Amino acid sequence: MDTVDELKLISGLKVKLNEPLAPYTSIKIGGPADYFLAVEDRLALARTLELLCRHGIPFCLLGQGSNVLVSDRGVRGAVLRLGREFKEALWTEDNGAVVALVGAAYPVSRLVREAARRGYSGLEFAEGIPGSVGGALVMNAGAYGSEIEKIVDRVEGVTAQGEAVGLERGQMLFTYRSSNLPPGTIVTRVHLRLTKDRAEAVSQRIRDLVTRRKKSQPSGYPNSGSMFRNPPGDFAGRLIEAAGLKGRKIGTAQISERHANFIVNLGGAKADEVRGLMELARAEVRKRFGVELEPEVRLLGEWPEENTSGAYIPHRRNRTG
Ligand SMILES: Cc1cc2nc3c(=O)[nH]c(=O)nc-3n(C[C@H](O)[C@H](O)[C@H](O)COP(=O)(O)OP(=O)(O)OC[C@H]3O[C@@H](n4cnc5c(N)ncnc54)[C@H](O)[C@@H]3O)c2cc1C
Repeated sequence: MDTVDELKLISGLKVKLNEPLAPYTSIKIGGPADYFLAVEDRLALARTLELLCRHGIPFCLLGQGSNVLVSDRGVRGAVLRLGREFKEALWTEDNGAVVALVGAAYPVSRLVREAARRGYSGLEFAEGIPGSVGGALVMNAGAYGSEIEKIVDRVEGVTAQGEAVGLERGQMLFTYRSSNLPPGTIVTRVHLRLTKDRAEAVSQRIRDLVTRRKKSQPSGYPNSGSMFRNPPGDFAGRLIEAAGLKGRKIGTAQISERHANFIVNLGGAKADEVRGLMELARAEVRKRFGVELEPEVRLLGEWPEENTSGAYIPHRRNRTG
């Protein structure tokens, strides 16, 4: 039986071949994935990973695609997207402490709204951050001086071989826009610790942040959020603007006129054009200010350079580990 037939036999797995990835990303760019695998539950995930591992098929995860740039050439191997069972949230309250057990595919925007409605505080900073809870965890998403690491208690996931893993807060090494998970780990559920507050107070803090965000971020055109991490003591957007690159275009990709750390897709832009602007920004900022900008956006797929596919190549564990 060939790989596709085997995949199609897995219950709870939807298989698409040569599926264009642009619609699954916020910047609306990206070529096809050889295998696009929508995984509905844990059992399907374990069986899928076992199969990918057995066939040596590389894979990567896609959350809501709001911090990735997918190559125009697409992704060789499999792209996994978590579905139904990973979109559930369970809220518990005990003596003023609140714990939310949230599936990795749960949208962050919905989580923020739901916490506010229940009068739970701790997630206000995440208002306006698109994406899934799994993506937010992996990226250690944050804004306005807070990050998801501050409210994470525990992470549930599976290894690339499909074995369940649990990581306690102290076992995780969060850094700026990264959670440094062991390579190949798939986040399935996150335990968040919140505090009880008045619903109106939480909502008011959220409204204040909405106003701040609207003033600073480009709206209207598809984008992937911040392209570069802020270097220590400075802002990537400030440096790119000071290098005179605000509004610069390659094809129909443009360094935003509103915020220079955003690249917007004016319509039909290619990933290569976005990369071109990123390289231009890095080169100019390096030349003028001696600062090396590091991409925040994750590159997925086939790029000319080695080691930038973002894919994990599974291999079976040998007995000596
Ligand atoms: C308009 C806009 C504003 C933004 N503002 C902010 C902001 O203020 N602060 C901020 O931090 N970010 C911001 N972002 C970036 C982005 O929203 C966050 O990084 C978000 O958390 C990414 O989640 P996602 O589900 O879209 O992940 P994706 O973009 O799909 O994936 C990001 C990375 O996580 C991996 N991944 C996703 N899910 C899993 C999983 N379950 N298990 C293992 N790996 C996984 C992917 O392989 C990839 O490497 C913004 C983006 C946009 C478009």
